[in-house]
Amino acid sequence: MKYHVEDDRIIVAMMRGENLLDNLLTVAKEHNIKAGTFTGIGAVENVTLGRFDPKRKEYDKREFPSSCELVSFTGNISLKDGKPFIHCHAVITDHDLKAYGGHLFGATVAVVGEFVIFPIDGEIIRTYDEKIGLAVWDLEECSYDK
Ligand code: ZN
Repeated sequence: MKYHVEDDRIIVAMMRGENLLDNLLTVAKEHNIKAGTFTGIGAVENVTLGRFDPKRKEYDKREFPSSCELVSFTGNISLKDGKPFIHCHAVITDHDLKAYGGHLFGATVAVVGEFVIFPIDGEIIRTYDEKIGLAVWDLEECSYDK
């Protein structure tokens, strides 16, 4: 991974074999990002997508081992248990250009990955909500620089 820090964004280039989420987390930790958003495109493999079942409070997961286009990738950075936490969703397409999308649990870069991270001043805190069954944004705990 190579990345370039600009005034209000970080440009990230990933290469084949690199772990997409681990790399984003590394950048977030190295730059002490407590809130932010990101977007990206590229090609990925060994992808795990999921869909949250609110009744069971569990994710249904599906794996995509083959190389796919990363058509759309977006998400946010917040703090969970005091550490940077990545929440992201992706749309990928297979060899027939059939699209699949969902919560992204993991992916390896298959060719390249091109990402832009936009840090937000302040912090977004994520806390566990028992009713939902997930750690969600707790805006009463958040702080923002004006
Ligand atoms: Zn999600």
